[in-house]
Amino acid sequence: MVKVVKFGGSSLASAEQFRKVAEIIHSDDSRRYVVPSAPGKRFKDDTKVTDMLYSCYELAAHGKSFDKEFEEIKERYNSIIDELRINLNLDKEFEVIKACFIGKAGRDYAASRGEYLNGMTLAAYLGYTFIDSAEVIFFNEDGSFDFERTKKAVGERLATIERAVIPGFYGSMPNDTIKTFSRGGSDVTGSIVAAGINADLYENWTDVSGFLICDPRIIENPEPIRTITYKELRELAYMGAGVLHEDAIFPVRKAGIPINIKNTNKPGDAGTFIVESTSQKPLYTITGIAGKKGFATINIEKDMMNSELGFGRRVLEQFEKNGVSFEHMPSGIDTMSIVVHQSEFAEKEQEILSGIHRNVNPDLIDIETDLALIAVVGRGMKCERGTAGRIFSALAHAHVNVKMIDQGSSELNIIIGVNERDFEKAVKAIYDIFVLQRL
Ligand code: ASP
Repeated sequence: MVKVVKFGGSSLASAEQFRKVAEIIHSDDSRRYVVPSAPGKRFKDDTKVTDMLYSCYELAAHGKSFDKEFEEIKERYNSIIDELRINLNLDKEFEVIKACFIGKAGRDYAASRGEYLNGMTLAAYLGYTFIDSAEVIFFNEDGSFDFERTKKAVGERLATIERAVIPGFYGSMPNDTIKTFSRGGSDVTGSIVAAGINADLYENWTDVSGFLICDPRIIENPEPIRTITYKELRELAYMGAGVLHEDAIFPVRKAGIPINIKNTNKPGDAGTFIVESTSQKPLYTITGIAGKKGFATINIEKDMMNSELGFGRRVLEQFEKNGVSFEHMPSGIDTMSIVVHQSEFAEKEQEILSGIHRNVNPDLIDIETDLALIAVVGRGMKCERGTAGRIFSALAHAHVNVKMIDQGSSELNIIIGVNERDFEKAVKAIYDIFVLQRL
């Protein structure tokens, strides 16, 4: 059994957190490859090292003095090294980094040093081999990630190394400069390393015990999700359920490796398993609820719309031409509605509306704003009758007016559109009926 374990920034924010991480790693012999983030926040108003590096580099790039800010970054690492009495001195590394800042080595280079230095520190603390991700994680000329080359390089390099630390978040470009993934990208590195060595499991350690059924800002102490499929996760993540970087799914999914989200501060909690498919019956009919505010609908009416060939295409063409993607498109016989992100649409509103007028000559166009979408997701809904009925009766009891309904053909999710002011109320009503009352 081989596990790749990734630890997020808050798991490695201080010496105390480093101790917990080492204990977790040493408690299971199969945790052989470790992917760390840069030190994150130690307390609520603290600053992540990655953000400190970005600001510091900003000063350097403008030719301003950054000595004070640089010292603070050094201090973050040195305090961990000193407190844990690690046999490591990063002075030379700091000198090189400082010189590269002055030489304007780039924002990505600057940000990547957070993981690079943390990787060195953790490797020294654990007694593992340090591997610079620039040597095994590769990007293409156009900035996209080169999966095949990377997978091969990771596999070959780690084949002869029993235990290693590979920093998250960055890799190298064909011209050897450093490039990072988008924010939170250490998750992606972990997934790539797991795929590269064909790991049995990718453990992603963070500061929560996995995915929760619902946003804890709406429901107090929602239950965690024990097992979720990749498809369900995609639906929930799309609707804003965070925890894991979106791009972290595809490398392991392609290789058939499950992910286990775990809590560094509560290692005994089972966390969430993310799997391709499972025979495990979910505890509740629904797996999760997620939602977002900030949508608008463009409602179009035209008599005999149903018999007008190409009507939909000509409407959608206007959105495409203006670079606005649509989220949903519920339709009736003589009506169709296009659901879009309000802020995206607002920028191109008049171009799109006049385009629609010109293209399909509608009887009426009406715009509704401040819509929230709620996704109720669950493999348990398939072939089960009454799920939609229960959702809508719960919403009716909560006095929430449903403005839109959309059920995908996969029967994996039901999307409900409500007015933004009803959003929290609606989510609570759905959680209540399925989880608290277990109906
Ligand atoms: N340190 C990077 C960030 O803050 C990457 C990561 O933590 O995954 O975004």
